[in-house]
Amino acid sequence: MPPEFIADAMLLKLARWLRILGAKTDYVPSSMQDSQILKLMLEKKNQNKILLTQDVQLHERAKLRGFGSFLVPREVSVEGQVAAILREFHLSLSDFPAKTLCPSCNGALRIVKKSEVKEKVHENVYKSHRKFWLCEGCGKAYWEGTHWERIGEAAQRIKNLLKA
Ligand SMILES: [Zn+2]
Repeated sequence: MPPEFIADAMLLKLARWLRILGAKTDYVPSSMQDSQILKLMLEKKNQNKILLTQDVQLHERAKLRGFGSFLVPREVSVEGQVAAILREFHLSLSDFPAKTLCPSCNGALRIVKKSEVKEKVHENVYKSHRKFWLCEGCGKAYWEGTHWERIGEAAQRIKNLLKA
């Protein structure tokens, strides 16, 4: 089983990236206090999940209680953070983008017939793209556009960081 993560409120960007790369990542809202996060980690469904935080104190408290926790480096770009996590947990990018999860909700993306998204996307998008996906969780539509190209480029930079 690939590891699953719980990212603290400071790490929304990172959480979205991990989902794009196929790692299931929950995101803790900023209203949640450290003690509540630790309580959350105790829940059965979360017991094998790894906490991602930049807060040294929270990281240490989690470790003391026997939870998996990874202290995310501060002085690097989000791509550098992703690379650090892939390295630490021996994850590869080889499944990308086949296993990409919805960056909003962790849902699985399903490739769909163009007609299925007609009501969900802007007319221009509909006309100018051929390949579409729908999230099985939140129903959001995705397509291979400029945004997707940028994700691909960033994934390539992450790959390069991993080689370095
Ligand atoms: Zn979704």
